[in-house]
Amino acid sequence: MPPAPDGTGAVLLRRGALYGAVTDLRVDAGRITAIGRGLPAPPGVEAVDLDGRVVLPGLWDAHVHFDQWTLARRRLDLGPATSAAQAAALVAQRLRTAPPEPGTVLVGHGFRDALWPDAPHRTVLDAVTGPVPVVLVAADLHCCWLNSAAAARYGLADHPTGLVRERDWMPIMTDVRRVPAHLLDRWAADAGRAAAARGAVGIVDFEAPWQLDAWAARVAGGTDALRVVASVWPEALDGPDGPIARGLRSGDVVPGTGGLLTMGPLKVVTDGSLNTRTAYCHDPYPAPGAGVDPGAPGTHGVLLVPPEELVPLLRRAAAHGLDAAVHAIGDEANALVLDAFAAADLAAAGRSARVEHAQLLRAVDPARFAALGVVASVQPAHVLDDRDVADRLWAGRTARAFAYRTLLDAGVTLALGSDAPVAPLDPWITIAAAVHRSGDDRPPWHPEQEIPLPVALAASTGPDGPITVGRRADLVVTDLDPAAVPAATLRAMPVAGTLLGGRWTHRAGI
Ligand SMILES: [Zn+2]
Repeated sequence: MPPAPDGTGAVLLRRGALYGAVTDLRVDAGRITAIGRGLPAPPGVEAVDLDGRVVLPGLWDAHVHFDQWTLARRRLDLGPATSAAQAAALVAQRLRTAPPEPGTVLVGHGFRDALWPDAPHRTVLDAVTGPVPVVLVAADLHCCWLNSAAAARYGLADHPTGLVRERDWMPIMTDVRRVPAHLLDRWAADAGRAAAARGAVGIVDFEAPWQLDAWAARVAGGTDALRVVASVWPEALDGPDGPIARGLRSGDVVPGTGGLLTMGPLKVVTDGSLNTRTAYCHDPYPAPGAGVDPGAPGTHGVLLVPPEELVPLLRRAAAHGLDAAVHAIGDEANALVLDAFAAADLAAAGRSARVEHAQLLRAVDPARFAALGVVASVQPAHVLDDRDVADRLWAGRTARAFAYRTLLDAGVTLALGSDAPVAPLDPWITIAAAVHRSGDDRPPWHPEQEIPLPVALAASTGPDGPITVGRRADLVVTDLDPAAVPAATLRAMPVAGTLLGGRWTHRAGI
């Protein structure tokens, strides 16, 4: 199957609500060619009556680990577990109902142990698993919980707890990701269609170390529901097939992909995460409590890439035409990354800079984001998932945590994402969390940091901007007006249609 080009046909969307006014939109060969009332529909034009449904720019997810999301969608979901014992019970149930193929590993995903009353330990799992190797991946992807059979499989038979963190966990993550390519590609196509059904038209993929060629092969094989911007990690930067050797610059569209695949930024991870207490912070974490490994390195978190390594790396990448997207969660990590951006002066090289996550910031740093033109790439669903952990681990500092309104007021450009699989790849969950910082019945968490819906939508619009004549016809049609529904409805916004370059990638009821 050849790569899907932008739609070649003509579509007339009749009676859509566009920025508050009911109008028609005409699309030809992938672009919007006319906006106005009563546009004609000559023969050969597919006319679709939207009956007043809302038309919005197609939605982007600015931070995704797509293969991990693809796999997580199929793994045992540990999100509901509120204790180690409950997680073990979910494992036991899965082993009874859908055991893994003999010789393969049962993989669970999404446990959050920071507030559990009991400690995750290999013996808790051993009691229900016997000899079946089990790897449970934490929601924040920074550690895993192994039973003894899995520990033995990965050469960690003597591991004291089975809770394996950060660099020690990386090779295990690589192993559990090892799914036959044809299967992973098929599952990825499914995941792409599911995202399109939620109104997504594009993602920035931060899957390590570099997925550009895998995506090119997928597109060639007919996977065409999303535009993909593929980042590169430092370990793939200099290889013989890396972007530098191939002269690929950020923003280059990969030939033969029908405009679906673009070279992305260099991704660098400078610290850990909040849940794992590895986010690098100015103030120390409180003393470890129940369920927390007292051996977690460093009471301030970990700094994985210090400025003296980061600055030359950013400079070299920029000299080769690569933008930068740098992961920083703790306030000290963010401060150091901003220092590095200032020193590397990417703007002088014509390259852009983003901080991924920017979860805790010193009071002085939003203004520095703005002054340096650094985009804050943030994941509002983390507010819902991490509010209790933040209250405990960042007690006294939460006014500076997930501070989207502060960033906005300082003049910083926001880009919204999910960090899937940490949160689902669903732009409406992301948008709803940004405008209403509660995912349950509780009052919103730091409601002063909520951002207006139009801002959240604009920060989910990706590179194409507002809907105008001449723009690529990446559009989403919603059954309800996002501005007129409560947060719970916004989260589950019914999507009637998604157009990618004028081609329907999702259609339901129109
Ligand atoms: Zn991420």
